[in-house]
Amino acid sequence: MSAFKKSPWVIHYDASSCNGCDIEVLACLMPNFDVERFGIINTGNPKHADIFLVTGSVNVQNAPVVRNIYAQMPEPKVVVAIGICGTSGGIFRECYNVLGGIDTVIPVDVYVPGCAARPEAIIDGVVRALDVLEMKRHFMLNSAGADIGAFIINRANQNDIPEILALQKIAYRSQAEIYGDDSVPALGQTLDQITAEFEKTIFIKAVVNGKIIGSIRGRIEGDVAHISRVVVHPYFQGKGLGTRLIKQVEQELGDVRVFEAFTGHQSAQNLHLYGKLGYREVRTEPFTSTVNWVYLQKERK
Ligand code: SF4
Repeated sequence: MSAFKKSPWVIHYDASSCNGCDIEVLACLMPNFDVERFGIINTGNPKHADIFLVTGSVNVQNAPVVRNIYAQMPEPKVVVAIGICGTSGGIFRECYNVLGGIDTVIPVDVYVPGCAARPEAIIDGVVRALDVLEMKRHFMLNSAGADIGAFIINRANQNDIPEILALQKIAYRSQAEIYGDDSVPALGQTLDQITAEFEKTIFIKAVVNGKIIGSIRGRIEGDVAHISRVVVHPYFQGKGLGTRLIKQVEQELGDVRVFEAFTGHQSAQNLHLYGKLGYREVRTEPFTSTVNWVYLQKERK
C-alpha cells in the first residue's frame, strides 16, 4: 500500500450547492465520523491535495475556479462529484447560468449520488477514489518506464499554463531542499505571473498519455536567447528528457547568436545538463543569502 492510500489529502470546493452536501462533507470531519483517524486530511491548498471533492453544480461563474483548482493539483489526482447537483446539475440544472455536473468542466472519477449525499456515502466515495488514485499512480510509473521516444514535445498553449505551473511546483521541491530555502522563485510563482510571462516567452511542453510531464521556456532579447526553468516530473527524471527539452527550445528560439541559461550554484544536475550540451559558465550573481545564480552561455554553431 502506498503513502497515498495511507494518508490521502482532500480539498473540498462548494461549486454552487444548497450547502446540504457541504454540511455532510463537514460531518465526515467531525467526531461522529472523524475521517482523520484513517489518515484522510482536509487541506485548503490544491497543490497539496490528492482528491478533489466537489459539491454543487457548475455554473458560468464558478467553472473557471473548478478548472483552476483542478489544474493546480499535482498528478496523480482524483475527482469526486458529490450529490446529484455535483453528478448532473441536480435541481439546478435548468437554471439559466448552470452548465451541469462537475464533469462538464473537469474529468470526474467517482460519483457519489444522494440529496444530500450521506456521510457514509461520501466516505465510501473517498475509499473508491483511493483505488483510482493508486491505479493512476501505477499508470504514471508505467508511463515513466516508457521509451523516451514516446514523449511528445512541442509548443505549449495558454490552456497548458496552469498544468505547467502545478508541475513546476512539484519539480522544484527538490531545489528548495538542496538550498534549504522555500523562497526558490519557481515555487512562489503565481498563475497571474506565469500567464504574464507566457505573453513574451515561448513555452515548450513534453506530454505522455495526455499529461504534461516536462516543460522549458525561452525568450529572445536582442541577439541573445534566454532559456530557463527546465521542469521534469520526478517520476520522469534521469531519462534524457531535460536534454530533449533544451534542444527543442533552442530550435524554437530561431536564429540567435548566443543562448544563455542560469541555474543555482548547487544545482549539480542542471549544471551537468547544460555543460553536457556545450554551455559554459560566464558569470555568477548573488540572489539570496543561500543561492547564487550561475549564468551559462553557448554560441550557436
Ligand atoms: S444534492 Fe441536494 S443537498 Fe446536495 S447540494 Fe444539491 S440540492 Fe443540496
